[in-house]
Amino acid sequence: MLLFTPGPTPVPESVRQAMATPTIHHRTPEFEAIFKEARERLLKLLGMDECVMIASSGTGAMQACMLNLCKSKALTVNAGKFGERFGKIADAMGRDKVELSYEWNTPCSVADVENALNENADIDAIFIQVCESAGGLRHPVEAIAKRAKEINPDIMIVADGITAVGVERIDISNIDALVTGSQKALMLPPGLAMIGLSQAAVEKIGKGEDYYFNLASEIKKQQQNTTAYTAATTLIIGLNAIFDAIEEEGVDALYANTAARACATQAALEAIGFSMYPQTPAPSMSTVFDEDAEPIRKLLKTKYGVNMAGGQDHLKGKIFRINQMGLIPVYESAWVVNAIELALADLGRRAFDGTAGRVFNETYFEKSN
Ligand SMILES: *Cc1c(COP(=O)(O)O)cnc(C)c1O
Repeated sequence: MLLFTPGPTPVPESVRQAMATPTIHHRTPEFEAIFKEARERLLKLLGMDECVMIASSGTGAMQACMLNLCKSKALTVNAGKFGERFGKIADAMGRDKVELSYEWNTPCSVADVENALNENADIDAIFIQVCESAGGLRHPVEAIAKRAKEINPDIMIVADGITAVGVERIDISNIDALVTGSQKALMLPPGLAMIGLSQAAVEKIGKGEDYYFNLASEIKKQQQNTTAYTAATTLIIGLNAIFDAIEEEGVDALYANTAARACATQAALEAIGFSMYPQTPAPSMSTVFDEDAEPIRKLLKTKYGVNMAGGQDHLKGKIFRINQMGLIPVYESAWVVNAIELALADLGRRAFDGTAGRVFNETYFEKSN
């Protein structure tokens, strides 16, 4: 079965092999050398001044940012499950919040953020997804961050890049915290969260807040190539292995291949009559709106060996999401669009004529030349 859900993503063989070595103790020069290497490579990938790795799923890192970077009031952007989660974290952590809500296909606008900041001078941090995975939606995070800093240079911009880091180049000029997790574009098992931080964020963190998610104590330890609590040693070994795999072709090639696959998938699906769900699709996943999406997804799973994701809440049964994150062999993506065309024929919706495969191949060839 091909795993084509936008997280978790498949773990490459070389990474699984690297993680199969005997467990080593985390307080040893041997592990510190591994940690140092992973940390340097992560800093380079994120492009930020500082970074921390935490043993938790991605949500832990989102919560750590709320605790350590928002002191008075949060502005959260809810255009799907993950943006909604930032709002719920604010509530759970006792932070006042203003929430901007959108339909899940609609990106947040710079003007709305501007209005919210002008009406609420006490907002000191903005929480937004780079890609909102509920609908595969790309928010204009860079433009929002730039405008917000013009209005209030001290504001913290927390960007959830869990389905954007390792997918596309993000302009981090005005971003203070960039969150990611192991099980998406980094093709690792779940359980490692990572946060890139600006110097301004490090200063605002100060002594930090919370016990387990105290970013000040993590920064202090991790600058010495160790962690405050037991490190996720196996996942950090895996992180070096995935960096090795990415570096075989280079990170720019990874971004270009991801964009080419996303573009070819979209063209192929549009050619057989589908339309994309988000107004501004992110390259991390291809999200298709279809009133009768569930039988297609089911056929792909039972007959064609492809596991795609569906929708949640009001989009349950109405969308399917095809992963584009990671080192995906292009022939697998070509099979996915072909399988969708076959499923349409099975359902009597459209006679099979190979259009999806042809358009995928033509577009991919064009994009990668
Ligand atoms: C997957 C994901 C998360 C993190 O979810 P966890 O299950 O806690 O790892 C957060 N934000 C986005 C946008 C995601 O896609």
